[in-house]
Amino acid sequence: MFDTSQYLNQLEKDSMNTYALMNPHTREKIMDIPECSNEQMEKAIQNGKRAFQKMKALTSEKRSLILEKAAQMVDENKEDFAKTITLESGKPVRFALGEVGRTVQTLKFAAIEARKLEGESIRLDAATNGGGRDAYTIFQPIGVVGAITPFNFPLNLVAHKVGPALAVGNSIIVKPAEKTPLSSIKLAEVFKEAGLPEDAYQVITGDGPRLGKVLIEHPDVEKITFTGSPEVGKLIKSQVGLKKVTLELGNNSALYVDESVKNKLKDIAKSAVTGAFSYNGQVCISTQRVYVHQDVFDEFLAYFKEFTESLKYGDPNDPNTDLSGVIDEKSQDRVLTWIQEAVDSGSRLVTGGLKQENGIEPTILANVSNEARVSCNEVFGPVVIVNSVKNAEEALEAMNDTNYGLNAGVFTYHLPQAFTFAHGLIVGQVLINDLPTLRFDHMPYGGLKSSGYGYEGIKYAMKEMVHMKFISMNYD
Ligand code: NAD
Repeated sequence: MFDTSQYLNQLEKDSMNTYALMNPHTREKIMDIPECSNEQMEKAIQNGKRAFQKMKALTSEKRSLILEKAAQMVDENKEDFAKTITLESGKPVRFALGEVGRTVQTLKFAAIEARKLEGESIRLDAATNGGGRDAYTIFQPIGVVGAITPFNFPLNLVAHKVGPALAVGNSIIVKPAEKTPLSSIKLAEVFKEAGLPEDAYQVITGDGPRLGKVLIEHPDVEKITFTGSPEVGKLIKSQVGLKKVTLELGNNSALYVDESVKNKLKDIAKSAVTGAFSYNGQVCISTQRVYVHQDVFDEFLAYFKEFTESLKYGDPNDPNTDLSGVIDEKSQDRVLTWIQEAVDSGSRLVTGGLKQENGIEPTILANVSNEARVSCNEVFGPVVIVNSVKNAEEALEAMNDTNYGLNAGVFTYHLPQAFTFAHGLIVGQVLINDLPTLRFDHMPYGGLKSSGYGYEGIKYAMKEMVHMKFISMNYD
């Protein structure tokens, strides 16, 4: 068991005051969390600089062993971690356990990649003036990394920043989402026990815009890695100057189901329900827009409705619960307004649409226009639109008619059609015969347009947290 109270007490000593951490499902107060001061962030950066010197002294083998040990400790405490995720985020425990399992993998991949960060040798004599030399590149750590993380995966998305930063030999400061700071603190306690040099991974809790600004603008922070909304991502991009930056932002993920998969419609509908409504749709790659070929539309929608209506709302600590309270009242009101707007402008409400205690009923809307906010914006709630399309061309056009570009999925048995979508979709990741709601923790992962800038996925994130140095040796 990893306790957060010592870490929180330490932060609270120098903090400005505290704020109330709320349970999203019950909307009851869990505890007070320190509202850290700008001076605390400044101090953390200076501590991080000192810790970087200690990190540089570690071999890649040693860093790999620390990451491996941390992965093992998270695994050994998976129930405890899952409980914490459920408590602070309201995520049903089944999905919280899934997140913990992924975190273990993320850290294991970081441990593997820590041993493998290799440059290349370059034939300089390919240039007219390059004879008589050997040349190669090496990767060097950059120093203090600043990480700003969202509420929806409070453990694994932190691990996606901490893992690669430590694997290359940097130190890191995490500013977690105000609503979900506990999981990142627990992870810091794990790393302490796993033998990480002191202050190589620190957590500073409190207000995003204020503390984020200190981190983003500080000359001793070499890189900002952010996961969150496009609005904040764009603001960070405008503040960050020449610093390295990675932005993992939102999406309104689309899925196309064509007529060739007619004999698999039931299975696809079942998994699409999971993709659309897991963690109340509060997932950056939640299946939000489904386009179905007109020949199989009615059958698909009937299955989809049936599975959706079988979902169970309730206590997120119950392993049978599918849906629970959404993150806060503001989010609940916004999503309900968008549903109503879509209905008012002619969409068909297939099921759901109402408030359910502190959550929202899983909602399906059909015949939705591209201009409706439930279609063109990121809903980040349990709402999915299902539209009929005449053919693949129309589907591709609708899928690309968006400001976002993270993941997209296509179910088809037509090989040429699969390639047409793979090449034609304007997104970072295309999943053929899978949902868009799919991420493997070692795959490259990044968005186009308003969905992001740069890449994560351990190996790829590491490349964005190092300097590449070119070295040539003249032996003439
Ligand atoms: P958010 O943008 O509101 O907050 C994210 C983080 O940014 C929090 O830690 C917050 O305190 C901080 N922050 C807020 N304002 C800031 C500012 N002005 N300067 C610096 N930091 C600031 O996002 P959220 O509501 O926590 O998370 C939901 C969003 O995250 C969705 O858009 C979702 O799609 C996105 N997301 C993306 C991915 C991905 O990998 N692409 C993964 C998960 C979530």
